[in-house]
Amino acid sequence: METRYIFITGGVVSSLGKGIISSSLARLLLSRGFKVTIQKFDPYLNIDPGTLNPYEHGECYVTADGHEADLDLGHYERFTDIRTSRANSITTGRIYQAVIDKERRGDYLGKTVQIIPHITDEIKRNIVFLGETGDFDFVITEIGGTVGDIESTPFLEAVRQLKWELGRRAVSLHLTYVPYLKAAKELKTKPTQHSVKQLQSIGIQPDILVLRTEKTIPESMKEKVARFCNVAPQAVIQSIDASSIYHVPALMHEQHLDDLVLDITGTEHRNKPDHTAWNAFVRRLEEARSKVRIGLVGKYVELQDAYKSINESLIQAATYCDRVLELVDIHAEKINDSNAGELLSGLDGVIIAPGFGKRGIAGKLAAIKWCRENDMPTFGICLGMQCMVIEFARNVLGLTDADSTEMTPETPDNVIDLMESQKNVTEKGGTMRLGAYECRLAEGSRVREAYGADIVRERHRHRYEFNGKYRTRFEEAGLKCVGENPDTGLVEVVEMPSLSWYVGTQYHPEYQSTVLNPNPLFISFIKAAVKHSGSNNAIK
Ligand code: GLN
Repeated sequence: METRYIFITGGVVSSLGKGIISSSLARLLLSRGFKVTIQKFDPYLNIDPGTLNPYEHGECYVTADGHEADLDLGHYERFTDIRTSRANSITTGRIYQAVIDKERRGDYLGKTVQIIPHITDEIKRNIVFLGETGDFDFVITEIGGTVGDIESTPFLEAVRQLKWELGRRAVSLHLTYVPYLKAAKELKTKPTQHSVKQLQSIGIQPDILVLRTEKTIPESMKEKVARFCNVAPQAVIQSIDASSIYHVPALMHEQHLDDLVLDITGTEHRNKPDHTAWNAFVRRLEEARSKVRIGLVGKYVELQDAYKSINESLIQAATYCDRVLELVDIHAEKINDSNAGELLSGLDGVIIAPGFGKRGIAGKLAAIKWCRENDMPTFGICLGMQCMVIEFARNVLGLTDADSTEMTPETPDNVIDLMESQKNVTEKGGTMRLGAYECRLAEGSRVREAYGADIVRERHRHRYEFNGKYRTRFEEAGLKCVGENPDTGLVEVVEMPSLSWYVGTQYHPEYQSTVLNPNPLFISFIKAAVKHSGSNNAIK
C-alpha cells in the first residue's frame, strides 16, 4: 500500500507526552500488522543532542547505527521494537547544515536560498524519504516543541504543504492540554480552542485532537471542542493521566485511535489488533504485589529524564520478575564513606550510572566500595563500570592513585584510559565511540548465562576504556574481564564471580531493553536483587 503519513503536533504547553502518544499509536498500528516507523524533529540548532547536558534535554539516546538522538526515540523503541536510526531523529541544525552544504556545492546556483522553499523542502525530503524506502505503511512524524514557537514554524509549514500534497494519505493529530481548575472545580477547554486556532492560522486543520487531562472529560465537552475546532466528535480523544505509560496504547485503542487513523487515510481495516503479549506485560505490571528497591547512584538523579532508559529498563525487568520497582535516587555528590551504609543497606540492588567528568566521582567510588564489601548486587554502566575498575584498583590492588585519565590526566595508574582511536579527535560532536558493537562473553561467566549467548551486540557512547595493560592484575585479584570486542579486544564487561552479582558493562544495555524484549542483563540483575531482598518486600 502507498505510505500514509501521520503528523503529531503539540499545543498549549510542552511535556504533554507527544512521544508516548506517537509510540502508542505506532504500537497499535503494528499490532494490526502494518509496517510503521516514527521520526522526531527537534527544533533546535544543535546538530544532535549529543552535545547537550541532561539539564537541557534529559537523556541522550543512542541508536544502533551510532546516532546520538532525542530521548523520545527510546520510547519509540521500547513501545514498538522498531530499530530507529539517524533518519529518525532530526534537528533544525541538521536541516540547515544540509541546505548550507548544498548551497556551497552549488546545487542552488543562481538562486536565493530561503527558508521557504529550501529549508521546508529539506524538511519534507527527510519525511518523505522514509516512505520512499518502501519499507513502511505508516510514517509517524512527531514535531518537537509547541505550536506557536518561532522555532517550529518551518516544520509546521512543511507539514502544511505535505498535507496538501498528500491529500488523504496524511493525518494531523494535535495534542493539547485541558487544565482542571481546582477552585472552580472545572475542566477548561479554552487553551485547546486557542491552540487549534493557532494551528489553523498556519493552514493546518487537525483531523484528530488528543486532549491531555487529569480528569475524565465529559462527552458534552468533547462535542463542544469538536464543534469549535472543525473536528468530528469521535475524533476528539482524551489522554487521561495513567499510572504507567504502558497503559496508554490500551487507553488509545478503547477510544478507537487506530480505527480513526485507518478511516481518515482510507486504509482497509485488514486485521484485528493482536495485543496479547503487550497486555500480558501490563497485567503483570498491575498485579505485582512485592517491591524491589533499587538505588541509582548518579549526579543527575533529581532530573526525571536524565536516566530515562535505565529507569524504564528497570521497570520492565522488575515487571517480568513480578515486582514493583521502587527506585531510590542517591545523589552521587551526597554519598561518602561515612554515610554509604546508611544510604545503601536497605536496598536490594544498586546501579552506578553513566556520565562524564569529575563531579560525583568520589561518591560513586564510595558507593561501589560499600557495595563490593557488603556483597550488594551492583550494576555499573559505562562510567559506572569504569568507576568499579578504579575502585578495585585503589582498594584491592593497592594502586591508591589509580584513576581514569578523564578525571586525572597525570595519574600514575591509568586503569581507564582514552581509547587510541580518540587520541586525535578534537571536535566534540558525534565523535565518541557510538552505536552497536559485538561483544564476546566468556564461558562460565554470569553475563553469558544471563544472555544465553556467547556473542551479543550492545550500544556504546564513550571515549575511555579499560586499560588492557592491567588486565592480568585485575583478573588475578578477582575482577574478571568477561566480555570483550572480538575485533579489538576492548574490555566490555567486568564481573566479580566471588560476589552474588557484581557486573560492570562498558556498553549501555538500557538502550536495547523493550517491553516485549527486556534486556537479559537487567532481568538477571533484578533476579539477584530479589534474591538479596529475601521475602520482606511485600507492599503494605
Ligand atoms: N565518560 C566516560 C567515557 O567517555 C563514560 C561515558 C558514559 O558513561 N557514557 O568513556
